[in-house]
Amino acid sequence: MRVARGWERGTILVYMASATENCLHLWGLRASAGSEYRCPACEERMDLEGVARWVREAERARDESYSLVEGDRFGDIVREELQREVYRRRRVMYDLQSVPRVATARPEMILVVYDARRASYECRIFYKEPRPAGVVEQLSVEAGWRTILDLRMDPDPVVRLTSEKVEEFHVLRRKFSEEGAPAPGRRVFYANEL
Ligand SMILES: [Zn+2]
Repeated sequence: MRVARGWERGTILVYMASATENCLHLWGLRASAGSEYRCPACEERMDLEGVARWVREAERARDESYSLVEGDRFGDIVREELQREVYRRRRVMYDLQSVPRVATARPEMILVVYDARRASYECRIFYKEPRPAGVVEQLSVEAGWRTILDLRMDPDPVVRLTSEKVEEFHVLRRKFSEEGAPAPGRRVFYANEL
């Protein structure tokens, strides 16, 4: 019987979030400048050692949960969820370790414009002249999490980078909307932000 499962998972995640940090980096981490990784949701940056520490925090929380009453149904659920969180964080870390950081044509500037009529983000990608051959110069991204996150898996690093910027802008626009303020319609990302 798992009636209250959704509620319990939420409660446990909130508990873990406040016990360890404010964000659980649920969207994973992205390669950022140098050897750093960045969380697209909270902007926290960390190196691989920091990611390993983050994994160990979850392992510690799980180990501590073994002091909860054995055989108690709620205790079992807590342990199960904490174990799941350990696996999730390990997966994030393994993913980072397995993706080679390739040097490639870096855009000079990315312009992201929200198209309200099509509910999409229209991206223009600019490069230093002479422009490298065969690069993506335009991208239209439907304004929904699924589409934005799918692009993260794109084999083209420029598409992945652009999707990160779309995601940043999407998060920003949502914050505005949540506060009842008109969201900005466009955003330019310059080389130092790419
Ligand atoms: Zn985060």
